[in-house]
Amino acid sequence: MNTRELKICLISSEVTPFAKTGGLADVSAALGKYLKMAGHDIRLIMPFYDVIDTTANTFYPVEFARHIEIHFGSRTLYYDIWTANLPATETPVYFVHCPEMFSRNRLYTDDPDEPLRFALLTRASIELCQRMHWGPDIFHLNDWQTALLPVYLKTLYGWDQLFSESKSILTIHNLAYQGSFPAERINDLNLSDYYSYFDANDLYYDKLNFLKTGLTQSDKLTTVSPTYAKEIQTPEFGEGLDGILRMRSQNLIGILNGVDYDEWNPETDPHIPFNYTSKSIHLKEKNKELLLKQLGLSYRKQVPLIGMIARLVSQKGLDLFEGVLESIIQQFDLRMVLLGSGEEQYEKYLYYLQLNFPDKIVFYKGYDYPLSHRIEAGSDIFLMPSRFEPCGLNQIYSLKYGTIPVVRKTGGLADTIEPYEWQDQKGTGFVFENYDRSGFYWALEYALSTYAYREAWDTIRKRAMSRDFSWKKQIQKYISLYLATVS
Ligand code: ADP
Repeated sequence: MNTRELKICLISSEVTPFAKTGGLADVSAALGKYLKMAGHDIRLIMPFYDVIDTTANTFYPVEFARHIEIHFGSRTLYYDIWTANLPATETPVYFVHCPEMFSRNRLYTDDPDEPLRFALLTRASIELCQRMHWGPDIFHLNDWQTALLPVYLKTLYGWDQLFSESKSILTIHNLAYQGSFPAERINDLNLSDYYSYFDANDLYYDKLNFLKTGLTQSDKLTTVSPTYAKEIQTPEFGEGLDGILRMRSQNLIGILNGVDYDEWNPETDPHIPFNYTSKSIHLKEKNKELLLKQLGLSYRKQVPLIGMIARLVSQKGLDLFEGVLESIIQQFDLRMVLLGSGEEQYEKYLYYLQLNFPDKIVFYKGYDYPLSHRIEAGSDIFLMPSRFEPCGLNQIYSLKYGTIPVVRKTGGLADTIEPYEWQDQKGTGFVFENYDRSGFYWALEYALSTYAYREAWDTIRKRAMSRDFSWKKQIQKYISLYLATVS
C-alpha cells in the first residue's frame, strides 16, 4: 500500500474540547489526533466562537492572516486567524476569528445570516491554505456547514493551481441537518453566477440546500457507520436525499466512529471518583453510590441505576418514553438519571417524571462534561432507544464502562451493540428492532430482569468491557480512503 504522507485539511464547525454540541466535535478531534500520530500533515480549521474558553489553551495570532477583508454580496467582513494546538497533540487548529459572525453566545443560530457564517468558515479555510502556500491532498468536510467547499474550489477559487490536485471528502454526521435556506441567500454567498451547481428544482421552490450540493459536488462521501450508510439510501432514513445518495452509492462508504479511550476509560478517567477495570468492578458500585448521593437519591444494593445523556430531540427516541417509563418505574425498584437539554416538550416530560417520582428520578437539564463521565461510570444500564442514529458514541462509551446499553437496532447502534441472548450467553446489550413503545418496553424490562441475576449480569458486563472500538483501528480506514481518493 502507498504510505505517503498526506496533506489533509479538516474543516469542522465543532472540535473537542474547544466547541462541542455532539459527536461531530469528538470525531473531528480524534481524526486530528490520530492522523497526526499516523504521520500525516493534518490541519484543522474551525470558527473562533465567543463560547470557546480562551483561558484553557494558549492561542496565537497567525501573523500572515490578520485583518483580512472578504466580500459576500454587498457585505464586507473582516477576520483574523488564530491558532492553538489540539490539547496533548502536535496537531494545529486554526480558528477563524470574526466576532461579527461567531460571537453569538452559541454555535448555531436561526439568524438570517446563518448560511453566511459557515460560507465564511469555508472560504476563510481556502484562503488560509493559500496564505500558507499549502495545497491539501484532501479537504475533509463535515456536515452542511462546510459542504459548499467543492463549489467554491471550482468557481471563485478555480483559477488557483494550488488546488488543482485537491480532492474533497464530505462526511455526513447527521443527514437530518441539511442547511436549507431561502434561495435568495445565494446572492450573499457570491455564488449567484454559479447557480447550476445547485439543484434547479430546489431553486425553483425557493430553496438552497448546502448538504445536497455537497453530496453532488464532493469527490467522495462518507458517513459514520456502515449500517447508516445503507439506511440513508432508503426513503425511510434518507431525509429526502436518498435518491442522490443511491446515485452516488459507489462513492459513499460508512466508517464506524472510534472512541478516544484516552478520554473515555474507567481505568484512567480523571472525572470519576473511583477508577476501575473489569477486574475491580466492585469499584463501579462505589461510583454509583456517590453519584446517587450527589443527585440526592438514596442508594440500595441491587437497585439498578439507569442513565441517559443526550440532546433531547426526537431522533434520540424520546417519543417512546411516555407511558413506558411510568409503567417500568412502578414495576421495578430503580433509580434514573437523565442529562441533556433540547426540545421543550421533552424537557417538560422529564420534569414531570422527576416531580412524580422524586425519590427515583433526577433530570439534570444542561450540558455537563464531567457529570457525563460520572453517569457513565455510575449507571448500570444506559438508554439509547434512537429513532435513527448515524453512529452514536455514548453506547460505545457505555460498553467500556460496563454500563449495559438498551438500544434500538439502527445505524451505528446496530453496528456496535450485539443483542443479548440468555440461551447461548451472547451479547453486549439489549436491542429492540421496531421503533415503538412495546419494543422499547420489552428491551428495558428484559434488561432490568436480567440485572437481578448477578452472574448473568457480570458476564454481560465483562463481555461489554472487552470490546474495542478504538480510533487506532478505524483511522486506517480513513487513510485507505484518502489514498484511494488521491491515487
Ligand atoms: P449526537 O452527536 O447525535 O449528539 P453522539 O452519541 O454521537 O450523539 O454524541 C454525543 C456526544 O455529546 C457524546 O460525547 C455525549 O457524551 C455528549 N453529550 C450529549 N449531551 C450531553 C450533555 N447534556 N452533557 C454532556 N455531554 C453531552
